Amino acid sequence: MIKMTEAENLKEKLFRKTKTGWETIDKKTKEEIFSYCKNYMDFLNVSKTEREIIKSAKKLAEKNGFKSIQEYQTLKAGDKVYYNNRDKSMYLAVIGQDSIEKGINIIGSHADSPRLDLKPNPLYEDSDFAYFKTHYYGGIKKYQWTTIPLAIHGVIVKPNGEKIEVVLGEEETDPIFTITDLLPHLATEQMERKLKEGIKGEDLNLLIGSIPYEGKKGPDSVKLNIMSILNEKYGITEMDFVSSELEIVPAFRARSMGLDSSMVAAYGQDDKVCVYTSLTALLALENPKTTAVCIISDKEEIGSMGNTGMESHVFDTFISEILNKLEINKPNLLDQVFCNSKMLSADVDAAYDPIYASSYEKNNAGFLGRGIGLNKYTGARGKSGASDANAEFVAMIRNIFEKENVAYEFAELGRVDLGGGGTIAYILADKGVDVIDCGVPVLSMHAPYEVTSKFDIYEAYRAYSAFWKN
Ligand code: MN
Ligand code: MN
Repeated sequence: MIKMTEAENLKEKLFRKTKTGWETIDKKTKEEIFSYCKNYMDFLNVSKTEREIIKSAKKLAEKNGFKSIQEYQTLKAGDKVYYNNRDKSMYLAVIGQDSIEKGINIIGSHADSPRLDLKPNPLYEDSDFAYFKTHYYGGIKKYQWTTIPLAIHGVIVKPNGEKIEVVLGEEETDPIFTITDLLPHLATEQMERKLKEGIKGEDLNLLIGSIPYEGKKGPDSVKLNIMSILNEKYGITEMDFVSSELEIVPAFRARSMGLDSSMVAAYGQDDKVCVYTSLTALLALENPKTTAVCIISDKEEIGSMGNTGMESHVFDTFISEILNKLEINKPNLLDQVFCNSKMLSADVDAAYDPIYASSYEKNNAGFLGRGIGLNKYTGARGKSGASDANAEFVAMIRNIFEKENVAYEFAELGRVDLGGGGTIAYILADKGVDVIDCGVPVLSMHAPYEVTSKFDIYEAYRAYSAFWKN
């Protein structure tokens, strides 16, 4: 019979580790984690939309020696370069010492998050209230977007090209906006509906005013007053909404959460947590062996379509431009580079939530606080639509993480046949790149206030650094 101590030793040797990362760190590391996450929260507070993310990323990149690819005549090892795709997505690269023909190391995240967009003709008046009509963007639970403080972020572009940037509802002195809900006293019928129909898409109307234009009586006088305020503030007319992109996002600020401040609560952590951790890892990278490429994509939440989404060929053009400026380009080289490349698809992972335990399978769930979460595959119902990472590639990534002592866990997206989802992984895999999903676990994903663990955020930064350094 084996003695207990021996059995324990054997267990330690043979079983996978499932303890919380907080148990494994010292005081100094905890301080590093908290200070890194303080900067992360500051970043989130000025970067709520994809355009704001790109603006912040560009500023950080330029401060760290990156230049737009148009500014380079030729490129050489060590050069830092970026391409800004229409202020909504961005690709950055640090040219490696090795020949780029051997492939590149990509980390790709997305800057867009679920939200409410204004419709092209948003403004209307009803019963002495002025409203903006919205059309939700991405997968949301609609009831979560009522009765919370909301802000308006975005741009209005006039026919002459003048671009007006709008941020309303973030300063303490700014007004905020909200979407009303029915009082419980009168909600008997509403409460009988299915949760997904409790609040309907056409009910998501933002309340923006209630005072009539001075001296005007009758219909549309509140609408006129709102239009007059907007005209005074931005010089716009009602027609200018058609060439605007105005996004309704929660007016909450990113905050430390829990009595132990171990977590971050913030809007849009899907996928800004992976944007920030990969971007800061790239900014700290000097003279990598392999060319390091960071993608900050747009439109992931609605299928990656359009010329700022990952399905577009703009990214290929950026890599082709790098090949041109390294003066080595030739027919088919781009395809070869992709076939030799590796990628971490940096997107958030559904964290196990004990309150909704039955939606997960505990042995294959991602837990908050255990490090970065990897999904060998996503997809839905029999892995349909999944980009399934090859075992050889998974082993290679494990090796990197283990060498650098990065805490990581492997998970599936919920229990079998429950639902599913996807990321940009398959798009790069289609080009021949070896890809695996690798991101931070999130509680309440796609809700106005999402929760992450500070331990995991810092491990993501360490994981992405390790991938690019190796
Ligand atoms: Mn995502
Ligand atoms: Mn998402």
